[in-house]
Amino acid sequence: MSKDAWGYQEPNRRPAPNWKVNPQTSQVRAGVTRTGFGETSEALFLNSGFTYSSAQEAEDSFTDETDHFVYSRFGNPTVAMFENRLAELEGAELCVATGSGMAAMFASVACMVKAGDRVVATAAMFSSCHVVLTEFLPAWGVEVELVKGTDEKVWAEALSKPTKVVFIESPSNPLMEIVDIRMISDLAHKVGATVIVDNVMASPIMQRPLEHGADVVMYSATKHIDGQGRVLAGAVLGSFGYMNDYFKPFFRHTGPSLSPFNAWVLLKSLETLDMRVERMANNAQKIAEFLSTRPEIEIVSFPGLPSHPGHELAKKQMTGFGTTIGITFKGTKKDVYKFMDGLRIIDISNNLGDSKSLITHPASTTHRRLSPQDQLAMGITATTLRLSVGLEHSDDLIRDIAQALS
Ligand SMILES: *Cc1c(COP(=O)(O)O)cnc(C)c1O
Repeated sequence: MSKDAWGYQEPNRRPAPNWKVNPQTSQVRAGVTRTGFGETSEALFLNSGFTYSSAQEAEDSFTDETDHFVYSRFGNPTVAMFENRLAELEGAELCVATGSGMAAMFASVACMVKAGDRVVATAAMFSSCHVVLTEFLPAWGVEVELVKGTDEKVWAEALSKPTKVVFIESPSNPLMEIVDIRMISDLAHKVGATVIVDNVMASPIMQRPLEHGADVVMYSATKHIDGQGRVLAGAVLGSFGYMNDYFKPFFRHTGPSLSPFNAWVLLKSLETLDMRVERMANNAQKIAEFLSTRPEIEIVSFPGLPSHPGHELAKKQMTGFGTTIGITFKGTKKDVYKFMDGLRIIDISNNLGDSKSLITHPASTTHRRLSPQDQLAMGITATTLRLSVGLEHSDDLIRDIAQALS
């Protein structure tokens, strides 16, 4: 890598701190690689290709690709800054960014499995992940078993046979079900499985699955990591072994890469991630407590409430309870639509983890692709809503909900 003013690295860079910095420092500073211009904010390298000073350098770059970027499908300086920053926040050896959360999810599983292999997954999960696991993979000869609930006996039974991948979503979208990452990882490792956790609902601020025994973490960075409704993105994080032997070869040749522009947006988003997630989670706690006092509501699914079945487990493996609330109303779908239409601040939208509070009716939108039985198995009924709590003042959000209820 050239180190002159047109190179990729700031010349005469002062040494990095020789202590382990806190996540608040990492989310602002980790991964920064300055050009010789010394720009404060991260540079945007909006280029697909790279040039070499000689034919030999081109050859060397292809045999030892860590030295020189070769093509933005494989890697790009702006994308690399985002990947390195997120890896630092997650405590992972390597991170690869992808063009969407689903690209991350699909590639994280597909890179490991072949016909005849077995995959075990949580039954409650985001509907596109459900489609990949229950429709595409079985069509390619992969056996997939979904496990409902948190019972250790049920997981031990499912993980009594050789298994290639265990895919966990916790908390789950939309009802915030919590499963024990440590318990499942220990069982999975006994039968040789790699444990992948979809950590979208918690974000790296509220849960670090690698510390609880998981092998791989995947994100939709579209959600809290951007958190401002701008870009689609995803990421996969894991050990050198998994990333170099499985993920990267699949990723490089199938091409679900992230645009450098989107990576640049995400670098700026990461700088405020903990402040945003903490405010959203505080708001969510207050709103969940308010909702649980309302006679119109049957179930408030939020792990921050002691009544939630996953409350104790969430306290053990998370550092907060998340930003999303499942709300199941008494009454009919018509009543629930009337409530949604009566809101004046909270938008009707199927995104989540956004600075703007958003409400959705999963049965008719995000989870409509699933059969009524599969929806019911996840606890989704015609009167279930998902509220993603944003950064607005909690008093205004509670007031908005109260006026729409009446
Ligand atoms: C949104 C979401 C995804 C998919 O991410 P995209 O960026 O929309 O592709 C995967 N898992 C969970 C839990 C999600 O909420």
